Amino acid sequence: MIDYHLHTPRCCHAQGTPHEYLAEAERKGLTEIGFSDHFPLGLLDYKPRSQVTMEPEELDLYIRDINDLKKSSAKVKIKLGIEIDYIPGTEDKVKALLDKYNFDYVIGSIHFLGDWDFTHPVYADTYKDRDIDEIYRKYFDLLRKLCRSKLFDLVGHIDVVKKFGYRPENGLEQHWQETVQILKETDTSFELNTAGKDAPVGDFYPDRRLLELASAAGIPVTLGSDAHSPDQVGRFFPDAMERLRSAGYRELAVFENRVKSSCPI
Ligand code: ZN
Ligand code: FE
Ligand code: FE
Repeated sequence: MIDYHLHTPRCCHAQGTPHEYLAEAERKGLTEIGFSDHFPLGLLDYKPRSQVTMEPEELDLYIRDINDLKKSSAKVKIKLGIEIDYIPGTEDKVKALLDKYNFDYVIGSIHFLGDWDFTHPVYADTYKDRDIDEIYRKYFDLLRKLCRSKLFDLVGHIDVVKKFGYRPENGLEQHWQETVQILKETDTSFELNTAGKDAPVGDFYPDRRLLELASAAGIPVTLGSDAHSPDQVGRFFPDAMERLRSAGYRELAVFENRVKSSCPI
C-alpha cells in the first residue's frame, strides 16, 4: 500500500519530522510513501493572508531532507513529490521552476479562490456570505484550467470545495461529468485523499460517485492521507481500499521521475 500525500513542518502547519512519518508508515505496513509538501508560494509571487507553505529558500532543504531519507530507508520506498497551488496566471513560472527540479510527481491543488483560502478553517465563515453554487462553479472552472495547464501529474483532493460541508443546490453530476472528461483529455491522474474524513464534511475526497465515474473512464488514481502529523500517515486506509475496490479500481498509479506506472491492489 502507498501513501502519496505527506507534509513536513516546513509548511508551518504540520508537525513531526519526515523520519517520524516514515516510522509510522513502517508500523502500518506501507510499502511506498511520497512526501508532497506545499510548494513555496513566494516563488509564485503570491502572498496568502496566512502562511501555509515553506519559504522559497527552504525548497532546496526540503528536497535534500527527502533525498537523504530515501537513502536511509530500506523497507519503505520513498518518493519526492510536491503539492503546488494552481493559481491562474502563474503557469509560466511553475513550468520554469519545475524544469529545475527532479520531482517524482507533482500534485496540483486548488486552495484559493481569488485571495480566499477556502480550505482554511479560519476563513470558513466566508461560505455563509457567498453563493454556494457559484463557489462550486468557480472551483470546477479552475480545476479544468489546472488540468489544461498540463503542469501536474495528478490533482490533489479533487472536490475539496466540500470540505466544510456546503453543497450546491443543483447537485454535482454536471461537475463530475466535466471533471472526468477533462482528466481523460489531459491525461491527468487524481488521488483518493482520506483527509476529508477528519474534516467537517466527514468523507473522502472525492465523493463515491466521482470515483466510480473516474474508474469507468480509466482515470489513474493514487492514494494519500494528506498527513500533517505522523499519526495521520495511512489514516482510514482499510476503508479507502474498500472504497477504491467497490468503485472498480484494481490498481493504483505510482510515479518515478514523473513517469507513471501502476501497482495492483
Ligand atoms: Zn497543508
Ligand atoms: Fe492541499
Ligand atoms: Fe496537502
